[in-house]
Amino acid sequence: MTPWESTYQQVCRELQEVQLLQTTQALLEWDQQTYLPQQGGAYRAEQVSFLAGEVHRRKSDPRLREKLQNLAHAPEFGSVSFEQQASVRELSRTIEKASRLPQRLVEELARACSLGQQVWVEARRAKKFGDFAPALERIVRLKREQATAYGMGGLAYDALLDDYEPGARSAEIAAMFAALVAELVPLLGEVKASKHHPDVSLLHRNFPKLAQEQLGRQAAQAIGFDFQRGRLDVTHHPFCTELGPHDCRILTRYDEQFFSTAFFGTLHEAGHGMYEQGLRSEYYGLPPGQYCSLGLHESQSRLWENLVGRSRGFWEHFWPEAVRLFPAALGASALEDFWRAINYSAPSLIRVEADEATYNLHIALRFELESALISGDLTVAELPAAWSDKYHAYLGLRPADDAEGALQDVHWSAGLFGYFPTYTLGTLYASQLFDAAERELGALESHFQRGQFQPLLEWLRRNVHRHGQTLTASEIVTRASHQPISQAPLLAHLRTKLRRVYRLEG
Ligand code: ZN
Repeated sequence: MTPWESTYQQVCRELQEVQLLQTTQALLEWDQQTYLPQQGGAYRAEQVSFLAGEVHRRKSDPRLREKLQNLAHAPEFGSVSFEQQASVRELSRTIEKASRLPQRLVEELARACSLGQQVWVEARRAKKFGDFAPALERIVRLKREQATAYGMGGLAYDALLDDYEPGARSAEIAAMFAALVAELVPLLGEVKASKHHPDVSLLHRNFPKLAQEQLGRQAAQAIGFDFQRGRLDVTHHPFCTELGPHDCRILTRYDEQFFSTAFFGTLHEAGHGMYEQGLRSEYYGLPPGQYCSLGLHESQSRLWENLVGRSRGFWEHFWPEAVRLFPAALGASALEDFWRAINYSAPSLIRVEADEATYNLHIALRFELESALISGDLTVAELPAAWSDKYHAYLGLRPADDAEGALQDVHWSAGLFGYFPTYTLGTLYASQLFDAAERELGALESHFQRGQFQPLLEWLRRNVHRHGQTLTASEIVTRASHQPISQAPLLAHLRTKLRRVYRLEG
């Protein structure tokens, strides 16, 4: 073994140990969201913070940074394997970036965000933005300081965005949102004016939990979530977490009076889970075996939830089973009416309840507001009014109070600036990838009609999952689709679907 190899192996071992700690922490957190008894909470917080501290200590060890620098600058670097180069490059990048933050700033940010979330909960309950404003001002100031400390040049916002979507730039994202808004606003106007609104009341009948769980599991299994390497459980705030290379947990919640919550939530989380299950386990804990970006992760959940799960072909396959499981709710309904109902679109004030089309407008305005907050073009005091004006301009609605306005999301109180655009980037990537898969595999709806989901999953494994972090998200999507990143496939998908659901002309 060459000296380069032996240092590389040492670094890998150290990182695999970090991964052991992180997955143990994730298991404790998963348990906290599912089965932990109420009285167990205080000790669990100590366990989690102990492990988090240990992970941070190891990751910020200057000796690890030094080894990575030596590996990256050694003459052999150019001749080692692609995966080794990618590992060294990615690890150096993230560890370098983290090490540029002064300890004082890291601690101040952690305190401000932990306090910020507590203040936000209270302010939201009281529906008073003014109660939260001082905490948010402090967080914005610290986030600007963080962006400057990263020393990446360019816009401060870009340095923050890079934490979630490496390599993305806000100028490109701003152009993409502008194009989306310009087309979506008039399209949603046509939808509103349509005389053929789907009857969504059929989704609000009684759907017994047990039957919902059965259908959700069948669908998750059919699309390819591997239950030998994962589990589905119940929680209040659905998510997906991986506890090891062959242990992926997805969580959902059930509403017996609304069909969509659990079913599409399960497909969404299964999509996240199938991405984790498709990463190369031989690189577990190292960049080639880790998810690429939040945007790409979200593309996988949205692809299976919306492009597969809300397609007509999918329901032609699952409809008989849905009617068998919910005879009282769906027995007298027609598939066409059900399919139109699950694809309804209507402006609303709450992001997490938004439909597939309007969702992107909720994100566009958050992106505009948060980048203006970071650049200083918008002050915290001006935020509620700016929020209300943008909702009026994009969705034709104004929030009645701050709770359904600028206080509705937890993100800013937790310091998550630059996170929102990854939701829409994911939606965009999903459509572009789906179209590319369809060009190679033929009409996918006819696959779904026959219950065939494997060809699409295998295509995603080959073109997306197996790359891990060896390429950026934009490189992965561009290579897979042979096209630059564009909002056009998403817009075409929404236009086609809404025209059919709302029976629009043209
Ligand atoms: Zn998601």
